Amino acid sequence: MTHRLFGTNGIRGIFNKELTPEFTTELGLAIGSYFTDSKIVVGYDSRTSSFLLSRAVISGLLSTGCSVHDAGYAPTPAIQFAVRHYHLDGAVIVTASHNPPEYNGIKVVAKDGVEIARYEEEVIEARYFKKNYRRGAWDALGSYYLFPTIIDTYEEAVKSKIDVEAVRAKRFKVVVDPANSVGSLSTPHILRDLGCELISINAHLDGTFPGRLPEPKPETLGALAVTVKAVDADLGVAHDGDADRCIFVDETGVVCSGDRTGALIVDYLLLRHSSATVVTPISSSQIIADITLRRGAKLVWTKVGSTTVSKRMQELNAVIGLEDNGGLFYAPHQPVRDGGFAASLMLEILAKSEQTLSELLKDLPQYTVIKERVECPNKLKQAVLRGIIARTNGLNRQTLDGVKVFYEDGSVLIRPSGTEAIYRVYAEAKDERRAKEIAVWGLSLVNQCLEDSKA
Ligand code: MG
Repeated sequence: MTHRLFGTNGIRGIFNKELTPEFTTELGLAIGSYFTDSKIVVGYDSRTSSFLLSRAVISGLLSTGCSVHDAGYAPTPAIQFAVRHYHLDGAVIVTASHNPPEYNGIKVVAKDGVEIARYEEEVIEARYFKKNYRRGAWDALGSYYLFPTIIDTYEEAVKSKIDVEAVRAKRFKVVVDPANSVGSLSTPHILRDLGCELISINAHLDGTFPGRLPEPKPETLGALAVTVKAVDADLGVAHDGDADRCIFVDETGVVCSGDRTGALIVDYLLLRHSSATVVTPISSSQIIADITLRRGAKLVWTKVGSTTVSKRMQELNAVIGLEDNGGLFYAPHQPVRDGGFAASLMLEILAKSEQTLSELLKDLPQYTVIKERVECPNKLKQAVLRGIIARTNGLNRQTLDGVKVFYEDGSVLIRPSGTEAIYRVYAEAKDERRAKEIAVWGLSLVNQCLEDSKA
C-alpha cells in the first residue's frame, strides 16, 4: 500500500507538501510515458496552485513526446467530454474537486472520457517509483496547443440533451453558486441559454474560496439558501470545485439531499428509458432502490467511488448512474458525473411537472437517515470488518464495500472510511424510531468487533 499514489478519485494532497511542482513534473513524465506519443488535454480548476501545477505536469508530458492541448480553466465534465468529442487520447485534470483550498490533485482520464482503471494507475505508479520514464530527444518533444473552445462545445452538448424550448417557456429564476471555481465558466451560460433569469453568487474564479468551501453541503450553502429565498427563486444550484457534482436548493430555501433529488431525476429518466439499468454505490439511500423498483427497472449496487460507477455503467450498458453526493451520470450524454447537465435536467423536470421542487420531493418515499461514526485505528479496520462480516452472516446483506444490512423497513451501511481513522454507520428507515434502533445496533456491532480485535 505504500507504493500507491492514486486514491478513489486520482491523486490528492496538500500543495507543496505532498503535491509539489517537482513531484507533479515527474508525475507528468510517468503519465506521458504510459500514454506514449499521445494527444492529451490538460485543464484545471481555480485553486491558487492549479495553474503552476498544470505547467509542471505539462512539462513532464511534453518531454515524453506527448502533445498537450491546453484547455486552461475548465470544468471536469467539459474536459471529459472534449476527450471523446475530439478523439483525443486522454486528459490530465489538475483539481482537488471538493477538498479544502490548500489541497490539489491530479485526475487522469482515458480516451473514453472516464478516469483510468486501477490497473492503468498501477502502470503509472510503477513508472513513477522506478523512475522509468520515456525521454524525448530535443527534436522529438510533444507539441503544445491552446485549446480554448472546449467549454462552448460542452455547453452545446448539454443543451442538445435537454428540452430547451420547454425550459425556456418557463422563464425560471435560478441562483447559481459555483464555489468561485470553474463551474462559473459554464453553468451560468447554459442556464441563461435555457431562458433563466439568473442570479449568481461566488461566481468569479478565486482560489482562496472567499465565499464558501468547495464541498457543496448544507453547512457551506447557507448564502445560496438565503439568496434563493430572498429573490424568490425557483431553484438554487451549487457545484463542487470542479463542477462534476450538483446539489440543489428548493424554492423554500432548503438544501436538498443528493439522494432525494437523485431519486427524482432517476424517476424522471426512467419514464424515458423504461428498461434502463441504474447504477449506484452501496452508500446511496434505499430511496433509489424504491424508485427503480417502482418503475420496473434494474438497480445495480457498486463499491463507493465515481470511477467505479462509470466503469460498471460501461460494462452493463447502463443509462443512469447516481451518487448520493450530487453526482449524476447519464450515458447518452456521457457516462461520468456532470454538474451542469444535472442542473439543466432538473430545470427540464420542473418545466414538465408544473410543480415546485419541494412539492415534487414531498411525493417521494420518506426516510429518516442517521449518520454516525466510530473511531477505529487504521490498523484494526480489516479485523473489525472480518468481525462484522462474521456477525452478520445469515442476514440479508451486501459485502461489496463494508457491510450493508437490509431489513424490510430500513437498512444500515457499516463501512471503514478510506481517508480517516473511523468507521461510518449510516442507518435509515421510513420510521424515525426504527432508524435510531438500527443505528444503535450498527454502532454496537462496530464497538463489539473493535473490542474483539483488540483482545
Ligand atoms: Mg468533483
